Amino acid sequence: MNLEISALKYLDEIKNENFTVEEFISKTIEHIKKIDGNLHAFLSINEKAIQQAKEIDRKIKSKEKIGKCMGMPLSIKDNICVKDTKTTCASKMLEDFISPYDATVIKNLKSEDAIIIGKTNLDEFAMGLTTEFSAFGPSKNPWNTDYVPGGSSGGSAVSVSALECIASLGSDTGGSVRNPASFCSTVGFKPTYGLISRYGLISYSNSIEQIGPLTRTVEDTAFLLNIIAGQDPMDNTTIDNKGENYLKNLDAGIDGKKIGVISEMTKNVDKEVSSATKNAIVQFEKLGAKIEEISLDMIDYSVASYYTITATEAGSNLARYDNLRYGYDFDLEGYEFNSYISKARKNFGPEVTRRMILGGFVPSAGHAGKYFLKALKVKNKLTAEINEAFTKVDLLISPTVPILPFKFGEKIDDPVALFLIDFNTVTANLTGKPAISVPFEISNGLPIGIQIHANTLQDKLVLQAAHALEKTTNLPGVSI
Ligand code: GLN
Repeated sequence: MNLEISALKYLDEIKNENFTVEEFISKTIEHIKKIDGNLHAFLSINEKAIQQAKEIDRKIKSKEKIGKCMGMPLSIKDNICVKDTKTTCASKMLEDFISPYDATVIKNLKSEDAIIIGKTNLDEFAMGLTTEFSAFGPSKNPWNTDYVPGGSSGGSAVSVSALECIASLGSDTGGSVRNPASFCSTVGFKPTYGLISRYGLISYSNSIEQIGPLTRTVEDTAFLLNIIAGQDPMDNTTIDNKGENYLKNLDAGIDGKKIGVISEMTKNVDKEVSSATKNAIVQFEKLGAKIEEISLDMIDYSVASYYTITATEAGSNLARYDNLRYGYDFDLEGYEFNSYISKARKNFGPEVTRRMILGGFVPSAGHAGKYFLKALKVKNKLTAEINEAFTKVDLLISPTVPILPFKFGEKIDDPVALFLIDFNTVTANLTGKPAISVPFEISNGLPIGIQIHANTLQDKLVLQAAHALEKTTNLPGVSI
């Protein structure tokens, strides 16, 4: 039995009775036990997974109605609530928090008989892009364990590429699904804002973030979207996708499509990344697409706008961690309000603290017009610009991340340098557009992903283009 199979292949194997769910889950857990001490993709493992597998096998055997996932093991970023399991956000603040309910995406997956194999590591509260800001220690890149796996959904990407699950769900506020997908050579998709319910995703910056799948193939992303996308009464920012079937016509190809290369996103990139992007352009041309350069002036302000907006929303969203409803228990005696809150907030790590200080300052009296409102104007202008671009082209492409994966410790002391690594990913979040990272090359043992954007609700077009590009590659899996 090979753990390196796609979700769709897994379903075939189960249907053909080549192995049982229990066999697959047992082997996956054994594999996790063997390698995860080193990789640290997981923060917790589902102790009931084998029992759940047995129950699904029983249903299959007795020909009862069985869900579309047929017991496949999925990992879930630890900022998405899974009932009766710890949801820590990789923070000391929530170290012992047990979620009393399932996020809508989890409810949907469970009702299709997915097995949640475990909860994956992240930068604390999804702030960061290396997993170095996890309060419980970083995850390592399985392609080279001296290197960061990307983030913040680093544990999710590691678990998919290191065969510790079939697929994963992460969250993407400014690139947190696409960045680790690129660094670990998996597919990573950030859908149109509102396509997937955020109910049960612990908010960092709720006006721009989305849950998104990390998978081995584009088909698998389409498969998962069919289960988790669509309107949810529990999240009134969700939109009606009219029951779209993302697997249907995935093979449509991109012959005749117009593709814009975002010029700002191809400057200041590592030479290996630049060469991979040129190679991708050649492949797109061979597939029949017409390529042109597109320049988006406002992009130069996108990172500043992104961090201004997200810090402000984080400041507000994280205000609830006041040690009264969540956090550690310590005696109130001897504290007045400010000293109590400041002691409680010591449970936050350095990056979250930085964002909260920024998020308190930016919208404060006398400053809001200078920073927050300006950032919103950039967001609106950038959206107008990208909408205009989509009147000329069908798709926009760029490298997912401007640089190759880097070593632990290399950038952790330079927050602005870290922020700038998000240059190519934040635009999709600020504008609400769908974007995907497709594994495209391995350069000296380090993965490089290509990013494809489309207009609002053209998620299927993104997947079709990604599928076409994916078929031009023949990348090795990681050797573990
Ligand atoms: N690196 C970005 C940040 O720290 C993106 C994080 C994310 O998408 N959750 O905000």
